Amino acid sequence: MTETVIKPDIGSMNIEELQAFFASIGEPKFRAKQLFSAYAAGKRIDEITNFSNALRAKLAESVEYRLPEIEQKQVSRLDGTVKYLFKLVDGEYVESVLMKYAHGNTICVSSQVGCRMGCAFCASTIGGKVRDLTPSEIYGQVCAAQRDSGERIGGIVMMGIGEPLDNLDNVLKFLRLVNDENGLNIGYRHISLSTCGVADKIYELKKADLPITLSISLHAATDEARSAVMPVNRKYPLDTLLTACKDYFDSTSRRISFEYTLLYGQNDKLEDAARLASLLRKYFPGKTPVHINLIRLNPVKERSFATPDDSRAYAFCAELERLGMNATLRRRLGKDIDAACGQLRRKRETT
Ligand code: SAH
Repeated sequence: MTETVIKPDIGSMNIEELQAFFASIGEPKFRAKQLFSAYAAGKRIDEITNFSNALRAKLAESVEYRLPEIEQKQVSRLDGTVKYLFKLVDGEYVESVLMKYAHGNTICVSSQVGCRMGCAFCASTIGGKVRDLTPSEIYGQVCAAQRDSGERIGGIVMMGIGEPLDNLDNVLKFLRLVNDENGLNIGYRHISLSTCGVADKIYELKKADLPITLSISLHAATDEARSAVMPVNRKYPLDTLLTACKDYFDSTSRRISFEYTLLYGQNDKLEDAARLASLLRKYFPGKTPVHINLIRLNPVKERSFATPDDSRAYAFCAELERLGMNATLRRRLGKDIDAACGQLRRKRETT
């Protein structure tokens, strides 16, 4: 019988867990903070120079060190957006996008290799889900990108490959790691988590009580239209989802953001805007505590959806505003560098 030895994944550990780990291998407690800050700095084991050669060699053979490696990097000539293709220790790939805004740098990270949610317009789900990312792999995308860019990353959006609420335990661990003052110290208020609408996990997320922003990928205002493009809606229809959102808002007072990808001819007519406004009003009456983020579809080669032109997109946004909603049309960053989620990984897997 062969025995598989499970090596400890030390990049997923917080300071207390690292202290226990180092104690277990006969090392002093202060190694925990040294390791934690080395991982946050995006260093490989052989670069942790405040550890002896012997300790580095011992770690290299006895632990999992899952810091992603930059396999490919594209920089937008238009706006400086950087797209990373990261290679994971088992040879899988994920993507992250570093966006530069006047108020600071924000990174979009992946939470799974692939995705099992099946949204009809999305490239990330085409081959299904391969596996969940570990906390260290989600966190490591931020650490490696910050090291590479040489500039502080102050914000995170969980809008890369994968469905974060389908990997909630690891995502919660990641959020606590990235917020830790011994490392990157990124404030929860600068972190958004985007979900296709796994309603029962929204209640669990609420219980974690972290003041992050919740974004819901809505994309349609009727069950019929939503189920046609997002299979998750058959399990958690709009009423179930929006009831969960309302509960989340009522107990956290955090404004919810609704993403709405404009699909030409399918959900981008002015009457769709009116339906969207009245749907959200029903659950969030009064001074609307919600924000609608309109996204122009990034066409995906394997899919047949089309993008509305800018004037149609602006008209949709204006209609929502006229109806008293708080809406913005998302700026397009990195148009020249495959910025739509999942497209770079797919290219790599299919060539
Ligand atoms: N699984 C999560 C997060 C990843 S997707 C979620 O569904 O929210 C991040 C956002 O990009 C989602 O709103 C998603 O619906 C949207 N998206 C996916 N494919 C897209 C495409 N081709 N063009 C524009 N937006 C897309």
